[in-house]
Amino acid sequence: MSASNIAVCPRCLLRAQDAHQAEVKVLVTAYGTIPAEEWAARVHANRPPEPRQFRMFAEYYEISGAETGTVTVDYGAKCETCGLELSFRNKYRIPGIDTPVRRGDPS
Ligand SMILES: [Zn+2]
Repeated sequence: MSASNIAVCPRCLLRAQDAHQAEVKVLVTAYGTIPAEEWAARVHANRPPEPRQFRMFAEYYEISGAETGTVTVDYGAKCETCGLELSFRNKYRIPGIDTPVRRGDPS
């Protein structure tokens, strides 16, 4: 089954942001203590992560059942990179189905 959507994986993005910040802290304290070329190369390589680079959270969802009076929402998602996943099924009864029709109400 193909995914309904490929979303940004929030865990992969957060981990990349944390790694970026950790490298920033290292480079701040390393200035002058490592060769200048190495320091500059590491600064250049340590770009802030772009959220679009982490579109790896495959979502599958289906909404059905309105004709029965109960709408079922099935959702599943997983990131193949970090293993983050979520799945659930919720059912919602449509309110007002049994409300009697009164004179003047639309039919
Ligand atoms: Zn992930």
